Amino acid sequence: MRTLVVLLWSSALLLISSATSWSATSVTYYGGYHTTAGHEQHNAAVAAAHPELVKLYDIGDSWKKAQGQGGHDIQALCITKLTPGDCALNSTGKKPKFVLHAQIHAREIVTGEIAYRWIDLLVSSYGVDPEITALLNTRELWVVPIANPDGVDVVASNPAQPLLQRKNVDDSAGGCAFGYAGVDLNRNSSFQWNPDEGGPCTEMYPGAKPASEPETVAIQGLLDTIFPDTKGAVDEPAARSTTGVFLTLHSYGDDILAPWGYTRTAAPDRAALVALGNKMGAVTGYPVSTGDGGIGYFTPGSTTDWLYGTRGVPSYTFEIGPRAGWCSGFQPAYSCVSSTFWPLLKPALVYAAQAAAAPYGRLP
Ligand SMILES: [Zn+2]
Repeated sequence: MRTLVVLLWSSALLLISSATSWSATSVTYYGGYHTTAGHEQHNAAVAAAHPELVKLYDIGDSWKKAQGQGGHDIQALCITKLTPGDCALNSTGKKPKFVLHAQIHAREIVTGEIAYRWIDLLVSSYGVDPEITALLNTRELWVVPIANPDGVDVVASNPAQPLLQRKNVDDSAGGCAFGYAGVDLNRNSSFQWNPDEGGPCTEMYPGAKPASEPETVAIQGLLDTIFPDTKGAVDEPAARSTTGVFLTLHSYGDDILAPWGYTRTAAPDRAALVALGNKMGAVTGYPVSTGDGGIGYFTPGSTTDWLYGTRGVPSYTFEIGPRAGWCSGFQPAYSCVSSTFWPLLKPALVYAAQAAAAPYGRLP
């Protein structure tokens, strides 16, 4: 979600004690959602079971790990039918890349589950489903299922009523009497970073400086490594030959956001970005918007603006789920993942992966 400062509600939830026990090794919470530990077990199991399809990378540290306070590695999987040179940490691989990035905002709990199911779909369908088999033969399918693992630990620590931690857990700017300390990792990129987004206890605190957080360094480092730079200055379009598509999953709003998010000025590739977004929107029923998305505020320092702005790769934010009603909000029942969100998102992810071959060209 891009807004909703729910500090008072958040702090009230902190006072609610849960009868359900939780430990750092629990693999699920709140009816089935996977914890960071659950995702780590899953990633390791998938990589071990499918060595011909999966490479598992540690791309950097969470803030707590960087501080020597426990924490986690940030994990990325690359899934493809591996041939020599595939899924290497360079930008010269032969197969176009689709990157799915989830749960950078920890409390947006549906998002990690979509990544989890996408991973399972890919590895279980090779040689079984012709469409997915073709994808693995011709694309590198990268997944960062938990971009903010320390934050997810906080969310899952109250399994009956997940906490509303949005940011990472960097409290070096001081603790917060109400709400949560931390840096909004989706305002912390090194592109159009804006110190005016808010102070340390606001939900959109961008950090002390651009890319101040290890989680930001990890994702920018991966994407810088695997995508060549096809874009010139900020107001110049990307090369028509650019390959790749990047999706970051958020909740909620039932919409798709395309660059720019930091300004109402049209991105140089706005028409093409919206055209591809509309293809995915046709599947999900989500409208595509740019700029402030019609809600009166912008997203400087976001992951999507950074990747499109620095590498030229078409980059989108999906805001999953409605604002009200059935399966709405940050914490829909776990059954909503199977009943609603996965069936809706799956074809859009398949389409995005297919489009990665020529996102500014002739769309499939
Ligand atoms: Zn979000």
